Amino acid sequence: MQRYDNFINGQWVAGAQYTRNINPSDLSDCLGEYAQAEPAQVAEAIAAARAAFPAWSVSGIQARSDALDKVGNEILARRQELGRLLAREEGKVLPEAIGEVTRAGNIFKFFAGECLRLAGEVLPSVRPGISVEVTREPLGVIGLITPWNFPIAIPAWKIAPALAYGNCVVFKPADLVPGSAWALAEIISRAGFPPGVFNLVMGSGSVVGAAMVRHEQVDGISFTGSVGVGRRIAADCIARGAKVQLEMGGKNPQVILDDADLRVAVELAAQSAFFSTGQRCTASSRLIVTDGIHDRFVTALAERMKSLKVGPALGEGVDIGPVVSQAQLEQDLRYIEIGRNEGAQLVTGGDVVKGDTEGYFLAPALFAESTPDMRINREEIFGPVASIIRVPNYEAALAVANDTDFGLSAGIATTSLKYANHFKRHAQAGMVMVNLPTAGVDYHVPFGGRKGSSYGPREQGRYAQEFYTTVKTAYIG
Ligand code: NAP
Ligand code: MG
Repeated sequence: MQRYDNFINGQWVAGAQYTRNINPSDLSDCLGEYAQAEPAQVAEAIAAARAAFPAWSVSGIQARSDALDKVGNEILARRQELGRLLAREEGKVLPEAIGEVTRAGNIFKFFAGECLRLAGEVLPSVRPGISVEVTREPLGVIGLITPWNFPIAIPAWKIAPALAYGNCVVFKPADLVPGSAWALAEIISRAGFPPGVFNLVMGSGSVVGAAMVRHEQVDGISFTGSVGVGRRIAADCIARGAKVQLEMGGKNPQVILDDADLRVAVELAAQSAFFSTGQRCTASSRLIVTDGIHDRFVTALAERMKSLKVGPALGEGVDIGPVVSQAQLEQDLRYIEIGRNEGAQLVTGGDVVKGDTEGYFLAPALFAESTPDMRINREEIFGPVASIIRVPNYEAALAVANDTDFGLSAGIATTSLKYANHFKRHAQAGMVMVNLPTAGVDYHVPFGGRKGSSYGPREQGRYAQEFYTTVKTAYIG
């Protein structure tokens, strides 16, 4: 069995222990053994990043841009191979996995350009004869902690801006999916970054993640994951004055109005609720449907769901891959049981599907006649489970859409400009979609939410500067 090591201060370093990376489409398939960093190794990585920072923070932007561009080009050139690796370790189907890898490559190339465009401002002082310059400087050593559901894109959208703006990085990927992270680190290791600028420490959140969060030499933590873990990380960071950015869960509403194009509404609901096995923070799990279209919509969506093929991520013609793990499958099944007990009506799906291989296959589940107070409509399930909430009109739909602790993405299907415009302004979410799925976003514009979904500055696009740099105001007399 091949072993994959941590990358610390420009060297590949063995772990004291290794964890097996198992394919959720075929539990007999192991992708390799991945090192678990010890707390002492995390400290070494942080020390290496700290030592590299003074030179890297003032390094030439052409060399930085070239290195980031090189990483992006290699990812794009290897997208088929990296896509297969990602599909094998996480379970999203191959076209989605290749799409995610492509996004990661594009992100590196985008930030290769962005690091040449870090503009400041020059203003006249209110005092005559003095001018004021506002510039951005790198933050320092940044700890990056990522979830399992986007094993290469989320690491890319944190690592690329961190390096572009002159920071040093210590990166901890999700323990379930170290393969794509390791492959990305390997590409970065050959791109021309000086030793210590980028470090990979694999292992569990409670050991490796916690050691990073609490280390006084880490100036900032960018985290994507669940609300519970995120809030604890924020408390630890704030306690020692470190900068923190959190992207967390969602319970995204998809409103469907009477005047929607039924075909469009069904397709976007099917996609955003069930594709990627519903394991996207931007997935729509609450389908809020007005009376006039309700019955037609439920029938057509159930029909569409029956055409979705559930199976191994690399299987021919498969639409929905397996759930990522046993624990996640149990959580999905538990919520399906909760929904039934709460009185929602299971229209279709929700059964474990047997395949040729042993894997975590689950038929996408749709509940109808659910109400906003039910747990299935309040808590993030993070699986291929969606519920329909029937409402009398647009005003009620908007109120239900906003009646949630989360606020990441919100969608509306309508042909009315009036309702589309009103929803765009009044949906309490960081991202709004009109006649588009709630999931599926561009890589060059800000990403993030409100309420329980996000904390701190936005990620991605030009807005990424806000977290990865700190502002300096200089007065010149
Ligand atoms: P998670 O359990 O919160 O884990 C996220 C990361 O934090 C993992 O690397 C995890 O390590 C680490 N971690 C766990 N405990 C820690 C601790 N005490 N200190 C430091 N780090 C710790 O989330 P997940 O299950 O991987 O991912 C699913 C969640 O991510 C969902 O809630 C989803 O909505 C959210 N998500 C949000 C976005 C967004 O942008 N808003 C995008 C994707 C996913 P381990 O690997 O060892 O658990
Ligand atoms: Mg987890």
